[in-house]
Amino acid sequence: MTDFDLVVVGGGPAGLGAALRAARRGARVTLVEAAPGPGGLCRTLSRDGMRYDLGGHIPFVRDGERLAWMRELLGDDMAFVPLPVASTVGDGDVQAGRYLDQRPPPRPLGDGPVPAPVPGDDGAAYLEGVVGGAFRDVVMRAYLEKVDGVPLERIPAERIARLMLNQAAPEGFWFPRYGIGALMDAMAASARDAGGDLRFATPAVGIDAAGGRFRAVTLASGERVTAPAAVLAIPAALAARLIAAGDGGPEPADIPMRACAIVFVRVDGAATLTPHAWIQCDHPGVPFTRVMETRHWSDAMVTGDATVLGMECYCFASGADPVWRLDDAALGDACIAALRGPLGWLAADRAAELIEVVRLPRAYPVADVRSAPAWRAVAQTVGAVAGVAHAPGSEVIAAVEAGERAADALLTSGA
Ligand SMILES: Cc1cc2nc3c(=O)[nH]c(=O)nc-3n(C[C@H](O)[C@H](O)[C@H](O)COP(=O)(O)OP(=O)(O)OC[C@H]3O[C@@H](n4cnc5c(N)ncnc54)[C@H](O)[C@@H]3O)c2cc1C
Repeated sequence: MTDFDLVVVGGGPAGLGAALRAARRGARVTLVEAAPGPGGLCRTLSRDGMRYDLGGHIPFVRDGERLAWMRELLGDDMAFVPLPVASTVGDGDVQAGRYLDQRPPPRPLGDGPVPAPVPGDDGAAYLEGVVGGAFRDVVMRAYLEKVDGVPLERIPAERIARLMLNQAAPEGFWFPRYGIGALMDAMAASARDAGGDLRFATPAVGIDAAGGRFRAVTLASGERVTAPAAVLAIPAALAARLIAAGDGGPEPADIPMRACAIVFVRVDGAATLTPHAWIQCDHPGVPFTRVMETRHWSDAMVTGDATVLGMECYCFASGADPVWRLDDAALGDACIAALRGPLGWLAADRAAELIEVVRLPRAYPVADVRSAPAWRAVAQTVGAVAGVAHAPGSEVIAAVEAGERAADALLTSGA
């Protein structure tokens, strides 16, 4: 007799998706999360009446069923944001349409299916086939390399195709009025209502997989939580490490991670700086790559006579990185200077003040073909354990769905 039917490690969207699905199926499920609350990267912070997410988190909802699911969880606390994601080219001219929605004329924006990549192709070769080499280099390259931090020739074609397919919201998007964290809180509450056991501030430190079969998760407190199956809803490299820690095997190679420093700035006056919710910015002299103006996302996020901008500065968590090495005040100054100078969105007489900088040293794995051997080793370590499913999450809703699928597969097979 085991403690539970299913253990879920990680309480971000993937883990919450798994726990909610399992609890609603009537399974005895427990979720353990290292942080004090749910959400993972999808958290909403608040200060002085301002609410802001850890980066612009659009839930890319692709069908009516998922929309109904969100509505059931959030009720009236959901609103449609009728703004497409926009892009800036160079000096701050904002053009409608994302870099990845763009096609050379005469094809209209977002027209036609995104061609499947040829396995093994790199992003540069893939985009040459889709949009042509000249358009790729003049319009798309700078932004994509600013996001991922490696040359386009090293970014796998699959990543570019996935971004083109999955991260599109040309007419706008549905958004929780109180921030993406509200959706995570609602999932956690609903999983508990359905009988799930959710524990926060409870890190897992090892996976017992003696004989190649999952048996238990060991917690930092020393407690062993037993179940026939586990969903590992944490980054793949961490999952492999927990398995190695449990069986005393060698530590798998790390996968290089991209960092993100998110700079939140309050600007006096309710007038918004731009007519867009989420702007992609390729300017090489601007530290941030994406900027969101929360007033556009939801009027419940901002109170009083101010607007708030969240600027996502992608970088590497290293003293050698020109963005990461700046202290918070200097990074805030650099972002405000960019809004005034190169981009020209912030008038000289409008006061702007740094609220805070949130640093995510391990925001997501670097998309680099050179990491392929490390990925293979990680997949082998995780795939070798019966009764374990890894739920990979590269977007909010895709992560929720990966968690649901993992829970369904394990519970249906009676692992
Ligand atoms: C700046 C930024 C902007 C983004 N914007 C968007 C967007 O617009 N739209 C979109 O769809 N996606 C976006 N994403 C991606 C989205 O945040 C992720 O895809 C999603 O959070 C992945 O969910 P997850 O549950 O797999 O992982 P995470 O959210 O990373 O959650 C993993 C959880 O596991 C916990 N954990 C780790 N180790 C342990 C352990 N040993 N024991 C217990 N718990 C552990 C962590 O504390 C964390 O809570 C963005 C990401 C970033 C960084």
